[in-house]
Amino acid sequence: MKYIITTLGCKVNQYETQAIETLLQARGHEPGQKGQADVVIINTCAVTAESGRKSRQAVRRLMEDNPGAISVVCGCWAQTDAEKAESLKADVLFGSGDRVKLVEAIEDALDSHERIVSVDRPFERREFEDLPAGAFSGHARAYLKIEDGCANFCTYCIIPYARGRVRSLPPARAGEKAAALAAQGYRELVVTGIEIASYGRDLEGRPGLSDVVCAISRAAPGLRLRLGSLEPTVVTEDFCRAIQKTGGVCRHFHLSLQSGCDETLRRMNRKYDTERFFSAVTLIREYFPGCAVTADLITGFPGETEEQHGETLAFITKCGFADMHIFPYSRRPGTPADKMAGQLTHAVKSRRAAQAQQAADRMKTAYLYSQIGAELPVLFETEAEGVSVGHADNYALVSAVGERLRGVVKNVKITGVSGEMLVGHIV
Ligand code: SF4
Repeated sequence: MKYIITTLGCKVNQYETQAIETLLQARGHEPGQKGQADVVIINTCAVTAESGRKSRQAVRRLMEDNPGAISVVCGCWAQTDAEKAESLKADVLFGSGDRVKLVEAIEDALDSHERIVSVDRPFERREFEDLPAGAFSGHARAYLKIEDGCANFCTYCIIPYARGRVRSLPPARAGEKAAALAAQGYRELVVTGIEIASYGRDLEGRPGLSDVVCAISRAAPGLRLRLGSLEPTVVTEDFCRAIQKTGGVCRHFHLSLQSGCDETLRRMNRKYDTERFFSAVTLIREYFPGCAVTADLITGFPGETEEQHGETLAFITKCGFADMHIFPYSRRPGTPADKMAGQLTHAVKSRRAAQAQQAADRMKTAYLYSQIGAELPVLFETEAEGVSVGHADNYALVSAVGERLRGVVKNVKITGVSGEMLVGHIV
């Protein structure tokens, strides 16, 4: 049979879509063209109310474009909003787990022409699902999902209800998978998951994130490792020392900040205050001089006052981030924050986001200029008219004159900044 698959949401969802495709192709199925597919699959996202709306839209559009095909709706939105998803009358409705069963259900539905609704209870999942994914052909960078689930229950977030408890890929198996990706020629591995700071709490001996990073590094010493988003609480002296020792971890750390005001962090049910966050930033910089520390921020959380927003602006400036992802708070039905008093207008949330963005832009420019004179290892990814472009270990985009460098790491001496890119020459 021929299938079309669409993905909404994060890198983990893309990884899982790739696994679904790999499983389908292993059973002899092939990708198809618009209008000629036997099956359309929509891997949905639930992170905001808007993601849910886009997921619904994608389901309707794919069904209309492929009227003869059976429709399959799976992923986080199908999991958290199963009733709404069911009202779309998809032929197969699945949650965010067990891709092997999903593929079997698709085949059953094709044979029987009967609807299959099988949304499980995510909190009953106990095992990490080891998926065949991560090698994106034509890319220099591969992905390794080491963890699923989250037990933090931040008050604005629906993800724990979509993904269930923390489940981890054992370190030895992570090492094997990394070594296999290195053998395929990948030079960089993004270590990812839903909440990787909680890695290992379900495994015997409770290995931590630094243990799995060290295991990966030992198994695939030629790969440079880029860590996915980190909760600041994982950043301790031991953690920094252990991952620095590997010599292969990129000097780019993305921390979830969300607010620079202690009272707001408390109401978000974040597990740190600004002092703890700042000590994480300081430690990282001590162990990885010149590194890029980037962060996520939510503006206009319910009840956030102008003064508290001002505290956040002052705190992000103190941190001096190399880049930020800033989101105006988005209400998510089913979360405690959605029921909180003091919901702010769209205009207030957006204005605060714009103010934070201005500060972030200034910090980004300062960070880029601070790199002039540095020599950065760049993994080249694209090439046009004799100029190659790639990401440095600090994730800055770098361009340099040179050809046939795709997939190669070269040191580049940085000589200037052009827009949001560093420019330099190959050493
Ligand atoms: S740490 Fe918080 S924001 Fe991140 S997935 Fe878990 S509950 Fe959501």
